[in-house]
Amino acid sequence: MMNKIERPYQICSYCVMDTSDEDIIFDKNGRCNHCKDFEKVLQQPRFTSDNEKQLESLINLVKVKGKSRKYDCLLGISGGVDSCYTVYLCVKWGLKPLVMHMDNGWNSEIAVANVKKLVTKLGVDYVSYVLDWTEFREIQLAFLKSSIVDLEMPTDLAIPGSLYKTAVKHKIPFIISGGNYSGEGILPLTWGYHVLKDAKLYRHIVKKHSTLKIKKVPYVGLWSEIYYKFIKRIKYLYPLNYTDYNKDEAREFLKKEFDWQDYGGKHHESKITGFWQSYAMPVKYNMDYRRATLASQIVSGQVTRDYAIEKLKELPYNSDKIEADKTYIAKKYAISREELEQYLSLPPKTYKDFPNQQKLILKFYEWYRKFFA
Ligand SMILES: [Zn+2]
Repeated sequence: MMNKIERPYQICSYCVMDTSDEDIIFDKNGRCNHCKDFEKVLQQPRFTSDNEKQLESLINLVKVKGKSRKYDCLLGISGGVDSCYTVYLCVKWGLKPLVMHMDNGWNSEIAVANVKKLVTKLGVDYVSYVLDWTEFREIQLAFLKSSIVDLEMPTDLAIPGSLYKTAVKHKIPFIISGGNYSGEGILPLTWGYHVLKDAKLYRHIVKKHSTLKIKKVPYVGLWSEIYYKFIKRIKYLYPLNYTDYNKDEAREFLKKEFDWQDYGGKHHESKITGFWQSYAMPVKYNMDYRRATLASQIVSGQVTRDYAIEKLKELPYNSDKIEADKTYIAKKYAISREELEQYLSLPPKTYKDFPNQQKLILKFYEWYRKFFA
């Protein structure tokens, strides 16, 4: 943080977002841009009578286009609630899905077991897309060495990459995602830049911090996204947005029907994600994911601000487990503990410190949503 201009500490008077987001903007009442923006999102009418009709025509579209095909849709599944429940719904709606699970080498056994239980009981076809570990390890290590906060970028670019490749291979016109509005919330761009799928930044980091030529691990950036969307005509669909989806109810349902198991923390279906979000991000980057989650929950009325402030006083990680986690991660990367510590102690960086396509990508999606979504 040597070159950054230090600003005085300030916390939002309404939620709990604070100057740990370097781009936060406060109004004259001390309220921040995040909770005001999210409030607007929540005020949009979402569940109207129209939704049922929209869902019906969406399902019809998939059925009609996929009539003579073995599969009419491809579903990516992580083992988490949203994606598992979406697979169940697609079967219930009478679709013919192919289910794909991407394995980046870090998946927790519980997540994998959840996937297997679900596809077995539903009787749907399932493929595991295993990333080449030697190559993926190099890519992720390059990100670790670059000291950028977005260690998850290689995974987040490989997921759509492997889905598009699988869709093309099996001639499937639709990719159905479990992504939904209710999972949306507050997240500063510097904390989660990887969601933008910036292939320019991705290639820059791999080139700078490894000697690797990426050959096997798929990734999607702006141009390949355009290629798949417009040339290959593969469409992403988000059907949960047309249902009155309730995550807690879905979780209970999955437990009862499929012996589905919970693995605790948000996004902790992978060991590296858990370590990164609950330890590296708050400790090294001063970016505490819980802060953004709690801020969202304050805005949606699920928790009080006092509760959130108390909660944030707790350590974000389990200090008894962290040594074992570090040993596991170093071993997995085939580096020494000292080397891992050395990377973790490099000065923190964000996407702004690297060549990127942020403006172009944001413009594209704004345009795409306007005309095609
Ligand atoms: Zn706020």
